[in-house]
Amino acid sequence: MKRTVFAVALNHRAQTAHWQEAFGQPPYQAAPKTPVWFIKPRNTHRRDGDTISLPMEQTYSGGTLAVVMGRTARKVVAAEAGEYIAGYALANELSLAEESFYRPAIKAKCRDGFCPMGELAPLADASALEIITEVNGEERQRWSTADLHRDAATLIAALSDFATLQAGDVILLGTPQQRVPLSPGDEVTLRAAGLPSLTNRFTDRPEAARPAAEGHPTLFALGLNYADHATELDFKAPEEPLVFIKAPNTLTGDHAVSVRPDNLEYMHYEAELVVVIGKTARNVSRDQALEYVQGYTVCNDYAVRDYLENYYRPNLRVKSRDTLTPLLPQVTPRAAIPDAQNLQLKTFVNGELRQSGNTRDMVFDVPFLVSYLSEFMTLHPGDLIATGTPKGLADVRPGDEVVVEIEGIGRLTNHIVSEQQFEESLHEQD
Ligand code: CA
Repeated sequence: MKRTVFAVALNHRAQTAHWQEAFGQPPYQAAPKTPVWFIKPRNTHRRDGDTISLPMEQTYSGGTLAVVMGRTARKVVAAEAGEYIAGYALANELSLAEESFYRPAIKAKCRDGFCPMGELAPLADASALEIITEVNGEERQRWSTADLHRDAATLIAALSDFATLQAGDVILLGTPQQRVPLSPGDEVTLRAAGLPSLTNRFTDRPEAARPAAEGHPTLFALGLNYADHATELDFKAPEEPLVFIKAPNTLTGDHAVSVRPDNLEYMHYEAELVVVIGKTARNVSRDQALEYVQGYTVCNDYAVRDYLENYYRPNLRVKSRDTLTPLLPQVTPRAAIPDAQNLQLKTFVNGELRQSGNTRDMVFDVPFLVSYLSEFMTLHPGDLIATGTPKGLADVRPGDEVVVEIEGIGRLTNHIVSEQQFEESLHEQD
């Protein structure tokens, strides 16, 4: 099934208790206000009975409850969310240790096989379900969903407010702070009353190459990957790529509309070169990385800065909203672009040049990014890497025409609409 697996961090009381002091410290000095979302992309998806390869780093089991959507959910209120739920399943939100919640933890959470999920079943009441973790037949953890800050209905309402959920999409409800360390040879079984159990064996043997799970292609995006843009935002250029993952709900096409939420100060465009992966890539060297690139296209990675909270920054609420990632569907083959690190990017708002840069100013270039990601996760054909944006950002308003253009790659046109205009256009389609 083509599904998106959303997960929420910091949703268990033991986690927020553990991080309470850190929340109060500089530079952020505030606890998160809205749910902290992240994605478990298709390379992480596995099933009951699968053997999963452990990386060299200490890996932790994170038994959790997955709520599975039964139909399309858009702007659903919590009181009605139950009608959209197909059922529940056990899932293991595997992770390395997390030292910080300030940045998306792709490296810790998106490794191959880091999200096995069991079979779906209906549950009359998931509000105080005990999730039990057994390792080699011995109980190692037991926690109750009653200790979560936000329940399934509340999370569906929060997420569907900005991201349309499809049948089969999943929300993982969170884990306690304490996780169960795993060793090669362990067999882990998750149990909960009324749900099929989930068993996986763990090994230190590397996994043989396997085709991508039946999920959506993974859409990676880079924060602060142009030195001039980092300066514009008062950040130092990062020492390691700041990678996050966007969900497919955010994608739209050429000549489409993008919605500016009401009552905002600042929503801006971001012209970006997008790398399209052509071959399965795992542990690819920088020298060979380009062989795994099918070609290039262009996207406009809009961001709503008003919603920028400090946890797993940028949150999906900022970066993965419906309609806010126009993507040119045509891919320019790699052979047609002799040097992807010397391309002009431009953004025009209502015909006026507002953003201008060159891909030579990327902090981490295309070969580095492909190699870097492939060191800890498998890239599959169709996966996309949006490589960041240069300086020159400005607010856009309903009625604006925004065109992003990359030399030799293409031109992507988009129109900003208000929430009301968008709702009216949806009703016209009905
Ligand atoms: Ca971006």
